[in-house]
Amino acid sequence: MVDITTLPGAREADDRAAELAWRLPAELAPLARIALDYRWAWDPDGSDLFRALDPHAWELNARNPVRQLADLAPHAAEIAASHGPTLERIARLQAVLEHDRARPETAIGGLDGPVVFVCAEFGVHPSLPIYSGGLGALAGDILKGASDRALPLIGVGLLYRKGYFQQRLDRTGLQHEYWTQIMPERLPTVQVRDEVGAPLTLSFPFFGRDVAFHVWRAEIGRVPLYLLDAELEENDPLDRWITARLYEGNPLTRLGQYGLLGLGTVRALRALGIDPGVLHFNEGHPALAALELAAEQVAAGMAIDDALAAARDRCVFTTHTPVPAGNETYETASFLEAFGDLPHRLGIDAERFLDLCRVHPGSDEWPGMTPLALRLSRRANAVSLRHGEVAREMWRPLYGGVEADEVPITHVTNGIHLPTFLSPPMRGLLDRHLGEGWLARAAEAETWAPVDTIPDEELWAARNEARRLLVDYVKVKSVQDRLLRGEDPERVKAVAETFAEDTLTLGFARRIATYKRLFLLTYDPERVRRIFADGPPVQLVLAGKAHPLDDNAKQMLVDVFGLSEAVGITSRVAFLENYDLSVAAPIVGGCDVWLNVPRPPLEASGTSGMKSAANGGLNLSVLDGWWSEGYDGENGWEIDGDAFAGEDEATQDARHAHALYDILEQRVIPLFADRDADGIPAAGSRWSSAPCGRTARASARRGWLRSTPRGSIRTTRPDESLA
Ligand SMILES: *Cc1c(COP(=O)(O)O)cnc(C)c1O
Repeated sequence: MVDITTLPGAREADDRAAELAWRLPAELAPLARIALDYRWAWDPDGSDLFRALDPHAWELNARNPVRQLADLAPHAAEIAASHGPTLERIARLQAVLEHDRARPETAIGGLDGPVVFVCAEFGVHPSLPIYSGGLGALAGDILKGASDRALPLIGVGLLYRKGYFQQRLDRTGLQHEYWTQIMPERLPTVQVRDEVGAPLTLSFPFFGRDVAFHVWRAEIGRVPLYLLDAELEENDPLDRWITARLYEGNPLTRLGQYGLLGLGTVRALRALGIDPGVLHFNEGHPALAALELAAEQVAAGMAIDDALAAARDRCVFTTHTPVPAGNETYETASFLEAFGDLPHRLGIDAERFLDLCRVHPGSDEWPGMTPLALRLSRRANAVSLRHGEVAREMWRPLYGGVEADEVPITHVTNGIHLPTFLSPPMRGLLDRHLGEGWLARAAEAETWAPVDTIPDEELWAARNEARRLLVDYVKVKSVQDRLLRGEDPERVKAVAETFAEDTLTLGFARRIATYKRLFLLTYDPERVRRIFADGPPVQLVLAGKAHPLDDNAKQMLVDVFGLSEAVGITSRVAFLENYDLSVAAPIVGGCDVWLNVPRPPLEASGTSGMKSAANGGLNLSVLDGWWSEGYDGENGWEIDGDAFAGEDEATQDARHAHALYDILEQRVIPLFADRDADGIPAAGSRWSSAPCGRTARASARRGWLRSTPRGSIRTTRPDESLA
């Protein structure tokens, strides 16, 4: 159903590979094809192989293998070409990629076309900067997992020419943003061409004009990811901005993005000859696609109600957040002007069109994409058990105020792609103990049973090694970040001189959004000073970007900086700038304790905690999102997740902050110090094999460690229970 070697863009990828190979010594030529398929990114040797060609250039090239090869200096190419072990590594990786593609597709009953998974962001690899946070990381994981399981899935997204944004902080902690321009010609992406070899050019209606767009293709193993791009000279300068920046603040540009992602996706699929069995909206942004499907049917003579029902039958929807900023609405007049062509093509009046996008039909509410997605999907799911409850309560009005348990929103708790987020030492440990081919069986609880019998000293050695890798990384990056911030010379090396590989390491890294409450970490300066300055050594790694327009979130960063300064702990707190997938991997791998303090019940899932747990880290988290399912009483620590416990936000903040400090002081810090004669955490400790194995088995049973999160595929089988 999905054959990446014949779908549009395949020939272009082969041509591009040939062009890249032409410049390389013949021995290295296979690397050119490997570079165009991100499958290398989750092979344990892929990154090291490209890096080894020229380690310095690898970082300068933002770990982009196409640039690495295109710019490879002749002498570096010659050295690699005459190095036997390098050639063996290339041959092995090539064989892995080819074997992966040669596997037969996994059949899914009841599906008459591929699953087309549509999302505003995809976090596949740091070299493809079209993501901002958890939604994108999950979408990237889903594509990789689908490739691993040979599922018939195709991704569609937008090619943002300026990505999200690059973050710099000044000495006060104030965030400054800047944007760099990507050149898709220099990425592992190829432009899809038409029969005569010209760029395939399509268009969608927006504000009464036709906005033209091109289609690019990236290969995520067996899964093609098509990326739509409106940066065309023939477009109005405002329209060219549609694919400039992810989560653009300008509402008209945002509408353009939803137009392209919704209407454009369906038009692109038609032009590519892809007839979707199901369209999966990962978040509401692409929901206009359902109306484009309906408009096609109306054009073919179907009555509007039947056309809407037919469209609904093809679409499924995953809602990812109860936070209003993730379910935004748009001023009615401009919404109508932007998409006025749609009601016309559907043969309905403007009010009926708006009503499809409103919670309360017949009201004068501003329209939004989430109500549209809920109305026009045959199945909707939230991303954790708790979020399911929250979403059903939240969207009751859309279903005429029925009881929450009658609201047709189910849940599929998010999962993670293990090979992407396991640290090398933990991957090595599991490879040694879980048996040949264990990753393919990662979703089965029995696969994880041997974890119980891993000797504690081996598990601890892997944890120590992962922490050491993180500390090395933090030392280098913190000096660079501090030099760029223009900090005082004696301050520049403070973290590098203080951070130690055997010190308890806490981590907090995620988008800096108000509801994630970074400020709880610094709520009580006196207690923070006691924990970080007076007691046994503890170090904290922080990272995260605030949305450029979120002044509240930016202020939280300034406050953290101010407090670290005021209580004299700047050498124990490392803020790593420009959080992205390349920063996330060493942090989730190396931290001993992963902190998460969202305001309940606003954390829909929170996958970074799963990444830490898979690496043997312990979560200390508010019982919200995935943790309210993942916590078993002994595999980490809880802060209560009561949503509205008869208190106001300020009281809840104070209570949670003190709970956090209490747990750190009374439980986490003493536990880390409690060692046997060999320096291993005391028998039965939370860091030993038994709780680790229990967490892994429970996670596997729930599908969180499956290389493919279940959502997109499960939702294609209406008969199958999602529980
Ligand atoms: C996993 C991941 C996230 C999600 O983190 P949450 O704690 O779920 O918000 C965000 N950004 C990156 C880069 C990630 O890898």
